[in-house]
Amino acid sequence: MGSRTCSSKTRCVSYGGEPTVERGNAPYLTAGRPGGSAMRTHTSAVDQPERTSGAASGPASGPASGPASGPASEETEVLVVGAGPVGLALALGLARGGVDCRIIEREPAFRDRGVRGRGVNARTLEVFEDLGVVEQALALGRTDLGIRTYRGEQVLGEEPVGSAGRPPTPDRPYGAMLLIAQHHTEAVLRDRLAEYGVKVELDSELVEFTQGDDAVLATVHRAGEPRALRARYLVGCDGGRSAVRKQAGFTFLGETWDEERFLLASLRVEGLDPDFLHIWTYEGMGAGALGLMPMRADDTWAVHARTEPDEHGRTPAPDLATFERLFAERAGLPGVRLHEPTWSTVWRPTVRMVDRYRAGRVFVAGDAAHCHSAAGGQGLNTGVGDAHNLGWKLAAVLRGAPDALLDSYEAERLPVATGVLAASSAQHRALFSDGGARTITRQFTTQSATGADFTGLSVGYRGGPLGRDLDEATGVRAGDRAPDAPVATASGTPTRLFDLLRGPQATLLAFDTDLPLPERPGLRRVTVRDPQGHAARAYGPSGPAVVLVRPDGYVAFTGSAASVADRPEALAEVMAGIGL
Ligand SMILES: Cc1cc2nc3c(=O)[nH]c(=O)nc-3n(C[C@H](O)[C@H](O)[C@H](O)COP(=O)(O)OP(=O)(O)OC[C@H]3O[C@@H](n4cnc5c(N)ncnc54)[C@H](O)[C@@H]3O)c2cc1C
Repeated sequence: MGSRTCSSKTRCVSYGGEPTVERGNAPYLTAGRPGGSAMRTHTSAVDQPERTSGAASGPASGPASGPASGPASEETEVLVVGAGPVGLALALGLARGGVDCRIIEREPAFRDRGVRGRGVNARTLEVFEDLGVVEQALALGRTDLGIRTYRGEQVLGEEPVGSAGRPPTPDRPYGAMLLIAQHHTEAVLRDRLAEYGVKVELDSELVEFTQGDDAVLATVHRAGEPRALRARYLVGCDGGRSAVRKQAGFTFLGETWDEERFLLASLRVEGLDPDFLHIWTYEGMGAGALGLMPMRADDTWAVHARTEPDEHGRTPAPDLATFERLFAERAGLPGVRLHEPTWSTVWRPTVRMVDRYRAGRVFVAGDAAHCHSAAGGQGLNTGVGDAHNLGWKLAAVLRGAPDALLDSYEAERLPVATGVLAASSAQHRALFSDGGARTITRQFTTQSATGADFTGLSVGYRGGPLGRDLDEATGVRAGDRAPDAPVATASGTPTRLFDLLRGPQATLLAFDTDLPLPERPGLRRVTVRDPQGHAARAYGPSGPAVVLVRPDGYVAFTGSAASVADRPEALAEVMAGIGL
């Protein structure tokens, strides 16, 4: 990209090697902060932590030491670095599990994330339901969009892609992807986190850390002043340029597709039907040529247009004039007006991932661990999956579970990231070549063009370190996602299995058996009452059976009641491994 300077009226930050120019911001970003500004200046709007010490397990006693000396160090059980969607989901999972945690964010104010992270898939919606934020997210987004594809003024096709294209089923309550601006998702997570008394500490940048046997000592620049923060564990959710990843010494192997550049913007549009995602194809660019997607809560549209560098390597500036020109060239629809851009950037896909997720007491999650093409809409979703996997494990280990439980985070999540990188790269090639119009429809309705499942529902950990099947008594296997099902309470009131699984505890499901089941703190026991047979269809027990579900909604153990009665130690071993 050619050199482009940022004027004093715009704000430039980088993502994927390209500057992002941001103009203005939606009012809610500074709401409640009189005089607050989204510009990158140090303001007085710094959230002070509500909790400043790791009260639950006492101060960390390790010999961690380093440059963060001077002011008395503050303490916490888990320090979450970065308040993007992944850090917020992690902090929420930790706080809900009773862990004392702090979450720091280097930006001085919450900001518009533009068109990033706007496709929230079915599995993430299940996680959001578990965390108590799904209704709020659904209210700010859309699941009812159709898709209309064009070549120039000619409409190629129109299809329902939302709930009509992919309706929910009893075992899978969320069908369509939710389209929601990432900053709205973040706001919803932040609000819920605040209900647990945890506020994002703004203007607080992790600059370095050292770790000892029992603790990590972090140096955090708060409003420019160095502070020492001691934590039992530190998790880098600090995005693609992660300082935590670099300091931990993880490699981040991969490549940036420098020849592919996408102009992205949020702006207002008049003259297009707001019930459709409009995609124009153009020779050699597939669905990358031009796309306009209406967003719900702030009445903006997310726009993308692929471009190529000129012979000097320059990319057109992502400003209104460029988008108007590209719209005229590639769409040419009369009566459409683009105006009031609120955010824009030039984006180049980066495809990279770490070799490790853990170094001692330090972990990475989300974009800090894996970056890839936005095709398939997997970044935020995969990162939230990381957070949901790691949160309960940290909580369990802090309460005495074996440390090996934390190793299972990398064992389970690294292969998921590997798969996502491959699938999103294949999807990228399919979307942005000549068959792109068909590919994007399939991405929203069924599966990717390459057969990959972008709903997140097929992610699982079969054969992983935590699960065990005692026999073949159930269709669901250890490591699988635990499906939902309409069931009944003991008194016959209709409910859902997800209502019974929700929360930071593990759950033992008893199918058609009154076998006495073990009692443990942090374990709920549920006798499944299944008048309509939905649970039986989803879990497939061939007779009386027991299924143990982890706090993150994955199956840890299956066995027939007879096998469990014969070998109770097998179930006890699995329970001990996950901290029960
Ligand atoms: C064009 C585009 C479209 C996308 N569409 C989708 C989609 O449809 N679906 C999807 O799932 N994903 C999508 N993504 C990806 C998604 O936006 C990212 O995967 C997601 O933002 C990652 O979240 P994160 O919390 O890991 O990192 P980030 O969102 O990058 O957040 C990291 C946070 O850490 C803070 N930080 C950084 N360093 C420090 C430090 N040293 N100290 C303190 N704080 C720090 C940053 O300021 C930032 O707030 C898209 C991405 C792009 C570029």
